[in-house]
Amino acid sequence: MLEMGGQETGSLETGSLETGGRMRDRPLLNRGLDGLGTTIFAEMSALAVSTGAINLGQGFPDTDGPKSVREAAVRALRDGRGNQYPPGPGVPELRRAVADHQRRFYGLDLDPDTEILVTAGATEAIAAAMLALLEPGDEVIAFEPFYDSYAACIAMAGAVRVPLTLCAPDFRPDLDALRAAVTPRTRLLLLNSPHNPTGMVLTPAELTEIAALAVDHDLLVVTDEVYEHLVFDGVHTPLISLPGMRDRTVSISSAGKTFSFTGWKVGWVTGSRELVAAVRTTKQFLTYVASGPFQYAVAEALALPDAYYADFAADLRAKRDLLAAGLTDAGFTVYEPQGTYFITTDITHLSPGTDALTFCRALPEKCGVVAIPNSVFYDHPTTGRTQVRFAFCKRPEVLRDAASRLQRLTS
Ligand code: PMP
Ligand code: GLN
Repeated sequence: MLEMGGQETGSLETGSLETGGRMRDRPLLNRGLDGLGTTIFAEMSALAVSTGAINLGQGFPDTDGPKSVREAAVRALRDGRGNQYPPGPGVPELRRAVADHQRRFYGLDLDPDTEILVTAGATEAIAAAMLALLEPGDEVIAFEPFYDSYAACIAMAGAVRVPLTLCAPDFRPDLDALRAAVTPRTRLLLLNSPHNPTGMVLTPAELTEIAALAVDHDLLVVTDEVYEHLVFDGVHTPLISLPGMRDRTVSISSAGKTFSFTGWKVGWVTGSRELVAAVRTTKQFLTYVASGPFQYAVAEALALPDAYYADFAADLRAKRDLLAAGLTDAGFTVYEPQGTYFITTDITHLSPGTDALTFCRALPEKCGVVAIPNSVFYDHPTTGRTQVRFAFCKRPEVLRDAASRLQRLTS
């Protein structure tokens, strides 16, 4: 039974049909997925549309990525590249570009033919990895709050998630608790750094300890690094670069965040030949392939000069600071993120006694802003009860407008 955050966030009808026979006694939805409902992102984006509120909920930029990259997609479409099924593992141009990117930024050497797999966004990569690597009853350790698809994919694989709570104000992992959580049934660690929703970035020292633990217990690690280029303090260190990790790590990333094209859904998996082959096996039967022409455009995007990546992070950092100041002025307790698109706040002082879901459902009506309740990303429902996430990947004038609307909460 799966009930993230102990809250039903959605409205999908999952009850049984009263038609008699075999359908009567069982709900239509696989009972292992009970409680998933509609994702919080869909619910809150729909609320933004229906109320006309500023959407600082779902994480997508309000400005598209570089024009040259958009034009590359148009050229691919016009030239008939990718309009028919691309190769299952992804077009060779993109696999080579991912390999070049991993070498340029991290000094990693990957074989584009066997150690890189293109997916329909990081979302498919996560699903394919879970379905490939897990069997029913396997335990997966993940830090909560976790990105919502983790719980869903672990459940779809019939595995058991073991949440370890990241606590405010700094959301650093408790590595002793991690060590204590490993059992003979633990199959893999599912990591995410930079971390959505808290913005926590694992330090090299923490990564080293986690790597040592994985080696000691012979664990697989799936690491979601979609915000790898959105680190504001320090640099991103891929877990796979640490000793002992090359053959046990599945790394996941995506063009959506790095290049501001979240609708293109081009992601990728990197890892050893054996791990990539395992993930490819399940991926074949999820989408087989996706996003043909966009794959060519993302190959060009990955080759953008270092200045693109540095300017992008600097721009987001300035937006983080702008929104953090606005939220503080409006009375939120702000937990400054080290990376990602998101700021987690606490509403206790602002709205004593209110839980995050109630607060977020009322916020558009009250002051014309949409945010995400972090409580739905926890298994332990009380831990994130008063945490609310705001996305700052928006134009400065939009962030200023949102901040001034939020002032109404106290005036
Ligand atoms: N992982 C995390 C941590 C995310 O925040 C997101 C949302 N971008 C994804 C995976 C999904 O990425 P994509 O849109 O490429 O499927
Ligand atoms: N990753 C995005 C976020 O955290 C949401 C993507 C989605 O809607 N599934 O806001």
